[in-house]
Amino acid sequence: SWKMANSKYEYVKSFEVNDQLMPSTWIVVRIDGCHFHRFSDTHEFEKPNDERALSLMNSCALSVLNEFPDIVFAYGVSDEYSFIMKKETQFYQRRRSKIVSLVVSLFSSAYAIKWKDFFPHKELQYPPYFDGRVICYPSTSILRDYLSWRQVDCHINNQYNTCFWKLVKSGKSKQEAQDLLKGTQTQEKNELLFQQFGINYNTLPAIFRKGSCAFRNKVEDIVKFSENGEPVKRLRMKVLVEHCDIIGLGFWEEHPHILQE
Ligand code: ATP
Ligand code: ATP
Ligand code: MG
Ligand code: MG
Ligand code: MG
Ligand code: MG
Repeated sequence: SWKMANSKYEYVKSFEVNDQLMPSTWIVVRIDGCHFHRFSDTHEFEKPNDERALSLMNSCALSVLNEFPDIVFAYGVSDEYSFIMKKETQFYQRRRSKIVSLVVSLFSSAYAIKWKDFFPHKELQYPPYFDGRVICYPSTSILRDYLSWRQVDCHINNQYNTCFWKLVKSGKSKQEAQDLLKGTQTQEKNELLFQQFGINYNTLPAIFRKGSCAFRNKVEDIVKFSENGEPVKRLRMKVLVEHCDIIGLGFWEEHPHILQE
């Protein structure tokens, strides 16, 4: 190339340390909105769950899956999203800082660009940003446990927040609501919701209770109709978002291609 080969400054390159991730492990990139407690206040998110904000997060996740084919699954809740890259991926030679920064920056810029589609009457007040981390998991069963951990967290937080905001909206102060809920078990929270507010927790929208899963699946497209009026179909891979249980084995058995090694 025309570039100067060995300038006297080139030695600085040797300070860059190798950050390749362990080979043959599932790569998880988890991003999380920075100071979204404040961000959600500033932008007047509905509490406890603003559906527009969750849909915006899901739309950003779709952009990430569509851009990086080696991401096979993603799970999102609140202001966080976990992206799973397949075990044998050679994406950017598995360099940690490349991978995490690519996902974080694509997600953040998608969030800013798509904001107006989900909040058409609310101006974005300042640039949203996300942190990111990478974790490698050596087996599919530990990876599934990781995803279960996030979904259990979604459930615990959502149940608490649903009670908390019902109490606050019914006139309790935030401190009173917090004191009332201190030390309560799952069953007691369900009873509180049912007895005081007539809410059956299990009938709340699945997007709140289960979070969101994004993955590729075969969908049937009708490409045209034949002369005798029969639909001509074609199978195609499409990225979908669903709100399913990923703790049990059912989902994984129904979609064996997702975590296929
Ligand atoms: P950090 O920078 O450490 O992540 P944070 O303020 O973002 O701090 P989190 O623990 O990540 O704290 O929690 C995110 C907060 O953002 C939630 O507690 C909630 O207040 C708010 N939030 C995120 N998504 C939504 C949503 N869809 N609807 C309502 N509030 C939301
Ligand atoms: P990679 O993804 O590996 O970084 P790249 O295409 O971004 O690939 P770089 O080596 O980073 O390659 O070079 C950035 C390229 O972007 C430049 O070669 C140039 O073509 C273009 N570019 C960046 N900034 C400008 C600019 N201000 N004006 C014109 N072209 C620019
Ligand atoms: Mg955090
Ligand atoms: Mg956050
Ligand atoms: Mg968070
Ligand atoms: Mg470049």
